[in-house]
Amino acid sequence: MGRETLEKLDAIRRGELSAVENVQQALELIKKQDKQVKAFIELNPHALAEAEAIDRKLKRGERVGKLAGLAIGVKSNINVTGLRATCASRTLENYVSTYDAEAIRRVRDAGGVIVGMNNMDEFACGSSGETSAFSPTDNPAAPGHIPGGSSSGGAAAVAAGMCDLCLASDTGGSIRNPASHCGVVGIRPTQGLVPGHGLIELAVSFDQIGPLAPDVYGAALMLETIAGHNPNECTTLDLSSVNYLDKLNIKIESIRVGTSPKFSELTDPAIIKVIDGAVEKLRDLGAEIVEVELPHLEKGLSAYYVIMSAEFFSATRKFDGRKYGRRIEEVCGDEVLRRIKCGEYISRKEQLGKYYQRALQVRTLLRREFEEALDRVDVIVGPTVPKLPHELGTKLSPAEMRAYDYLTSPISLAGTCAGVIKAGDVDGIPVGLQVQGKVLGEGTVLRVMHALEAVK
Ligand code: GLN
Repeated sequence: MGRETLEKLDAIRRGELSAVENVQQALELIKKQDKQVKAFIELNPHALAEAEAIDRKLKRGERVGKLAGLAIGVKSNINVTGLRATCASRTLENYVSTYDAEAIRRVRDAGGVIVGMNNMDEFACGSSGETSAFSPTDNPAAPGHIPGGSSSGGAAAVAAGMCDLCLASDTGGSIRNPASHCGVVGIRPTQGLVPGHGLIELAVSFDQIGPLAPDVYGAALMLETIAGHNPNECTTLDLSSVNYLDKLNIKIESIRVGTSPKFSELTDPAIIKVIDGAVEKLRDLGAEIVEVELPHLEKGLSAYYVIMSAEFFSATRKFDGRKYGRRIEEVCGDEVLRRIKCGEYISRKEQLGKYYQRALQVRTLLRREFEEALDRVDVIVGPTVPKLPHELGTKLSPAEMRAYDYLTSPISLAGTCAGVIKAGDVDGIPVGLQVQGKVLGEGTVLRVMHALEAVK
């Protein structure tokens, strides 16, 4: 289990599989399956030519990066020169990027070949993929069900093998939630680890670019590629480089794994059963299981929605019809409009910060609670989503939809990192374990996930 990415990279480096063949396979699979799955909004017309360039370098024995020849999908809120960054919205339907996001620049430099732009919830607002202005995405791991969101297309594309790795974004759970529903690996990096330059924001104080991958190796590889300081971005952490791959195989015997009874209070018992099974596996691997308290975990969701809406409202003011063609309020879907209205209300002067201040207090509270808990343990494990993905087309109230974010939004508020790996399934529907780590604890999170992957 979990050797897919490494084996493919080896095959490319040894010349058994060319970059062109690999990209061609991805494009063929997209052609065959994507009419049904709808994981991509646009394909890169230069993908094969870019793969050819990698093959030429390989033939000449020139330096190729660590992603050499892999087929990469990109969420449609990340700028890639010449491709549309629509955010799956009519607002930006005709917006063609004129530059590469810093993370994209790093992916290209490492030899990754961008095959296309992934479908998503409109402006990353949603947990199901159904708010996309173009089409909902199907879940290849549980057909007929939502793939989760907002990085719906990326998770579905990886699950279906339509690309090797994806770049996505996580604000309140958008990498972790679809990773769980689609049975793939995803990581929300620590705030500031990965440059956000070139990401069209939902809520800038939460947004993080991160990987979706079929296995832990792939997620670690992509994270290593995109992480690290960007001198042009004062919000990135001052780290020159990171190294996760070398440490993936270190045993987890000495690791302390936290669990919290809070999780089961909020989660479907069938999901908890799967999660408990994963905790037992970690115990068998020698980890010490310790119970931690997260007394105010459930308060995170509303605080997240208040802060996110206020920031989103502000971020959308530039879509006033003058620069990008369309005024957002005139063409966006209901969920985006709801958030703009809500954000506008929260931000009014006469509120005197009534909602916003309180939400910031909860943010501080949760940050402290996680800090205290993570002082006692190396990681905290639990479910990713409180319920199983609904069937496509089921009508949910906004509150029911938001409830998907109960377990992912707290880590966004705390500003630390978390990874998701499949722990098992309920009636064939994947269930992901969320491994929540310390600030810059990605290496440990990846090691725990890697150990678990090996015993599946
Ligand atoms: N589902 C959450 C929301 O709708 C998170 C979205 C995200 O992380 N982009 O806001």
